[in-house]
Amino acid sequence: MKFGTKAIHAGVEPDSATGAIMTPIYQTSTYVQEKPGVHKGYEYSRTQNPTRIALEKNLAAIENGNYGLCFGSGMAASDCIIKLLSPGDEVIVTNDLYGGTYRMFTKVFANYGIKFHFISMEDVNNIKEYINDKTKLIWVETPTNPLLNIIDIKGAARIAKDHNILLCVDNTFATPYLQNPLDLGADLVMHSATKFLGGHSDVVLGAVIVKDKDLADRLYFIQNTCGGVCGPQDSFLVLRGIKTLHVRVKQHCENGKAIATFLRGHEKVGKVYWPGFEDHPNHDIAKSQMSGFGGMMSFTLKSDSWDEANAVLSNTKLFSLAESLGGVESLIGHPASMTHAAIPKEEREKTGIVDSLIRLSVGIEDANDLIEDLKQALG
Ligand SMILES: *Cc1c(COP(=O)(O)O)cnc(C)c1O
Repeated sequence: MKFGTKAIHAGVEPDSATGAIMTPIYQTSTYVQEKPGVHKGYEYSRTQNPTRIALEKNLAAIENGNYGLCFGSGMAASDCIIKLLSPGDEVIVTNDLYGGTYRMFTKVFANYGIKFHFISMEDVNNIKEYINDKTKLIWVETPTNPLLNIIDIKGAARIAKDHNILLCVDNTFATPYLQNPLDLGADLVMHSATKFLGGHSDVVLGAVIVKDKDLADRLYFIQNTCGGVCGPQDSFLVLRGIKTLHVRVKQHCENGKAIATFLRGHEKVGKVYWPGFEDHPNHDIAKSQMSGFGGMMSFTLKSDSWDEANAVLSNTKLFSLAESLGGVESLIGHPASMTHAAIPKEEREKTGIVDSLIRLSVGIEDANDLIEDLKQALG
């Protein structure tokens, strides 16, 4: 079955009680049992909820996995994955990643005796240097946030398999429509469904998708035991969002190309980070592992002035100044003071997150209107 069909139909059956075509929001905490232990497969909503299960099945299908698990946020999904580990274990992580993930690894799980190595993965061979017999997990985010670096998933998977290490890919930026890490050899895919999957900036939710049954069972145990699940209303919103994922992402890609090209030609703009450019350092890898380049991009100003960047951020009218990404509406953000403020200045400048770096989440409005807005804001 092709993507658009799976996005709309996978995991979704007409409601058995009424025939409702839309999955009902099963707003219930518990389920009546005929006799102790005799029931219809549902006992308690932390463990099983029909709305959440429909979404979990749908996500498993669109990521070409076998099992999906949903959580109250992307961070709760990542939290569940790290709980597969024990004190003394080591993780190798890309050094250009979502600030909240960096914060959770360094400020929470480092205190539990798990060691994280943050390294550049633009050449995946760098990973090998950090592998030892305690290494249990490689954590990749591609394209990275906010610099749109591309990491070779197949290459990372080969290294992980050779050393019997799990590979997890945060696939939030690419979405399952543009990239399927499980097909490229990853063991786990993580999503902030808050972004493109939900797609309308109206819900916070996270997901993990895997192929392997043993791994799924270990994750289900943690999901049910620690309880970071999402509610039925939020599950419904993401299930609904996914029905138009392919249509929206196509438009994000088209608008993204138009805007990246415009920015590149503007006299005040320094660098433009967008994997669709042929001179992007890992453009060939992007082309081989993604079916499009998306609407996420970042750019710097030639002046690299914090004040000038601030002026652009306050002058746009269609691009709203806000955290988050992946909604139908265009957003503009300043990583150094917003999403990546938790990363010390010295660390972030090493990876290219300079004071004037501006990140765009290009929405699906008319591209010409968006270009006019940026033109007047850049002055
Ligand atoms: C937003 C985001 C997260 C965290 O997800 P939440 O739903 O906000 O908890 C993780 N990774 C990436 C790449 C993100 O953009």
